[in-house]
Amino acid sequence: MAEELKGAPVAKAIDERSKADIALLAGKGMTPTLALVRVGAREDDLAYENGAVKRCERVGVACKKVTLPEDISQEALLAQIDALNRDDAVHGVLLFLPLPKRFDQNAVRAALSPDKDVDGVTDGSLAGVFTGSGEGFAPCTAQACIEILDHYQIDCKGKRAVVVGRSLVVGKPVAMLLLAKNATVTVCHTKTENLPAVVRGGEIVITAAGRAKVVGGECFSAGQTVVDVGINFVDGQMCGDADFDAASQTVAAITPVPGGVGTVTTSVLVNHVVEAAKRQCGM
Ligand code: NAP
Repeated sequence: MAEELKGAPVAKAIDERSKADIALLAGKGMTPTLALVRVGAREDDLAYENGAVKRCERVGVACKKVTLPEDISQEALLAQIDALNRDDAVHGVLLFLPLPKRFDQNAVRAALSPDKDVDGVTDGSLAGVFTGSGEGFAPCTAQACIEILDHYQIDCKGKRAVVVGRSLVVGKPVAMLLLAKNATVTVCHTKTENLPAVVRGGEIVITAAGRAKVVGGECFSAGQTVVDVGINFVDGQMCGDADFDAASQTVAAITPVPGGVGTVTTSVLVNHVVEAAKRQCGM
């Protein structure tokens, strides 16, 4: 049976790192603070907000909820972001995306300072991920995948890594982060031919397609590590993109869903807020 790479111990270790830095920042009279900017009240935004606020409170990061009406104008939203960029008491900004369709989402993303972009949504942060320049922050979910591999001491150097999914939120940035760890990376998508054969050849597999069991039994091979980012619901039950039962018979290690990547994501977010505070005071 495959080893289960649970998210909770990884999240705990990240939280401990954050707490140690928060204690150092307290010595400088600083409390890392996250502003959560939400337009309207979409159910999944509310769920992410609740999780993030709880994790912040537990670790010692302050939260400022900026809840804006559904009918706010683009100019007013941009003005809010500008005010947060200038507010020295706010170190990180989480902007819930996607915005309602009538907004020019690219213009809104561009308004946020990469220095405070703790969820990695700006072009500046993505450029940082692609160039390794250290600008901004990696998208939290992509970073969470790497934290899991690091925590369980899965060495990426020289390994064949296969990423299923090429979104800017998960697939592309995680591919770049794996490349930075010297993996040999293949990125798959809906036009990939013979997906099972490609995935079978990977020693490290990251699934971020958002389709239940799209990575099925025929995709697995002995010795693989599978990190399943997918969040899908089948008959009211949450599941990932990988067929967990089939994978468990073959691969060396796999993250569960729920209890895997999702558990680590908010800890990464909180850690990014702490890191942003440290950078802003030159630590
Ligand atoms: P997305 O924007 O819909 O992108 C999905 C990607 O998967 C696309 O690149 C798509 O290819 C590819 N894909 C879809 N079906 C495929 C198939 N049958 N074969 C091969 N590739 C396929 O989704 P996302 O935002 O990246 O999210 C992916 C999943 O991660 C979702 O389930 C989401 O809920 C989950 N997620 C989890 C967390 C967490 O914290 N755990 C955070 C964010 C997202 P094309 O480009 O060709 O369309």
